Amino acid sequence: MNPQPGSFPAAGHDHHACVRSALRGAERLCAEQGLRLTAIRRRVLELIWQSHRPSGAYEILEQLAGEGHRPSPPTVYRALEFLLAHGLVHRISSRNAFVGCSRPGQGHMAQIFICDRCSVAVELADGTLNRRIRRNADDLHFHIREQTVEIAGLCPACAGRANEG
Ligand SMILES: [Zn+2]
Ligand SMILES: [Zn+2]
Ligand SMILES: [Zn+2]
Repeated sequence: MNPQPGSFPAAGHDHHACVRSALRGAERLCAEQGLRLTAIRRRVLELIWQSHRPSGAYEILEQLAGEGHRPSPPTVYRALEFLLAHGLVHRISSRNAFVGCSRPGQGHMAQIFICDRCSVAVELADGTLNRRIRRNADDLHFHIREQTVEIAGLCPACAGRANEG
């Protein structure tokens, strides 16, 4: 079974389906907006979607080098900037890493719940919370560039294991 959007993915779910749907979503978004999903942008996105855990730029570079591509770091950083700018990935500041967006192209502000133990991250976009933050920003005459709330704790599987002892 595939994880429902906004819930923690079950161990052993069909993750290939997650990757396929993320890549299809990215292709659709790029086609609609006239953007170029170049080979490197696509591959970086695919590497970020390798799991539901945030990946760092260095990790991505290492993997590409292992595949024999060895792109220059600026090439990879530019690909990451592109994916960020078009809402295909989120930056997890606390880990200096990136996670695939499960609702790409909606230009939303996200809340990301990250497990301390297994690092699995799940994204929500609570409309009430987002409206409130936007209103507070307006009151402050503050222009939001990027807004990701990161919530750290234990996912259901790890919390279960912690309770068992
Ligand atoms: Zn998955
Ligand atoms: Zn998102
Ligand atoms: Zn966990």
